[in-house]
Amino acid sequence: MNKLSDRVNRLGYSQTFVMSNKAREMKASGIDVISLTLGEPDFDVPDHIKQAAFDAINENYSHYSPVPGFLELREAICEKLKRDNSLTYKPSQICVSNGAKQAILNVLASIINDGDEVLLPAPFWVSYEEMVKMMDGTAVMLPTSYVTDYKITAEQLETAITEKTKAILFSSPCNPSGGYYTFDELKSLAKVIAKYPQITVISDEIYEYINYETKTTSIAQFPEIYEQTAVINGMSKAFAMTGWRIGYSACPEWLAKACEKIQGQMTSGANTVAQRASITALKTDPSEYRYMIDAFEKRRNIVYEMMQKIPGFKVLLPKSAFYFFPDVSFYIGKTLNGVHINDSDDFAMFILEHAFVGCVGGVSFGSNECIRFSYAASEKDLIDAMTRIKNLLIEVKFD
Ligand code: PMP
Ligand code: GLU
Repeated sequence: MNKLSDRVNRLGYSQTFVMSNKAREMKASGIDVISLTLGEPDFDVPDHIKQAAFDAINENYSHYSPVPGFLELREAICEKLKRDNSLTYKPSQICVSNGAKQAILNVLASIINDGDEVLLPAPFWVSYEEMVKMMDGTAVMLPTSYVTDYKITAEQLETAITEKTKAILFSSPCNPSGGYYTFDELKSLAKVIAKYPQITVISDEIYEYINYETKTTSIAQFPEIYEQTAVINGMSKAFAMTGWRIGYSACPEWLAKACEKIQGQMTSGANTVAQRASITALKTDPSEYRYMIDAFEKRRNIVYEMMQKIPGFKVLLPKSAFYFFPDVSFYIGKTLNGVHINDSDDFAMFILEHAFVGCVGGVSFGSNECIRFSYAASEKDLIDAMTRIKNLLIEVKFD
């Protein structure tokens, strides 16, 4: 007898956690594994943010907060959206959640009915497809490739829209590709979306600060689709606060109210101490956190240099976020050291078991050609990891 719901039975595990757990288990059994699986900054939370959390405990911020978050935090978020993104929101349009993950789920739960289609430009972050399934929606993938810098075009978007299309969900900067949409590219997508008022854009901007070129643009900046857009962001990546679990959505009023309604029945307001600390994090000038971006950029350059020399890897220089997503299709369908590689998940497992480097296969990112490495790791680990993979693939035997 299967006691589980159909919902849970059709859901996949998050592949990022599957591979990081596997790497952790191997490490615990004494194997020297370098894990480049999970995408999380390896920095400590800056001291002034920690101090704000100590203060919040001492000031007894220990009771329930309002469901969408403390007003002072929502005001700080509105100021940040104005300062960094030229976006105008009122606190009533903000819902603070347990990470950006819950913020996305709140929005999907608010708008998706059985069978509604959600467009996912691929590659996409692993949880998007499963979240859509969780809400009984249908994920429709829009494939892209190495050749187009892993981005969709306005024409491709328009062709994919049907009367069932309810949303488009994407991250820019992108996890996993490391690319981002330019102002002009977003403008042309916005022009298409404006023609279909039933469509909501869920714009995941959690890697906003982690970019090595110009400042990125939020698609909500285009007035013709402001009322159709949910902006998602949070503390995890910008301030190395992954475990503090604070994210948020900025939406039109009707959608913000729906998110609050859902969250009020599910988890209530997010952790109060972390909310207070987030006010301090957001009010600090972003230049204070520049040292993290500079370190990521240095690591990116090291990995890029080394990865280009790995046989069979086709690699683009990531412009943002902290991932490499090389095309490894050369190895798919081949037998390596007696192991048949059916897909990129098999290849990621091969790398883990033979080079002792953890990465994540591209299948759950909607791309079977690629594998993902997080370079939010020490320079030494990154150099060792690339050396191990290169040595393995130089010597590998094809059967
Ligand atoms: N969106 C993207 C693109 C991510 O990579 C992640 C991973 N952390 C999230 C959302 C979720 O972030 P959070 O820790 O705020 O839930
Ligand atoms: N977002 C990170 C990643 O892609 C953390 C893990 C997760 O939430 O899936 O690795």
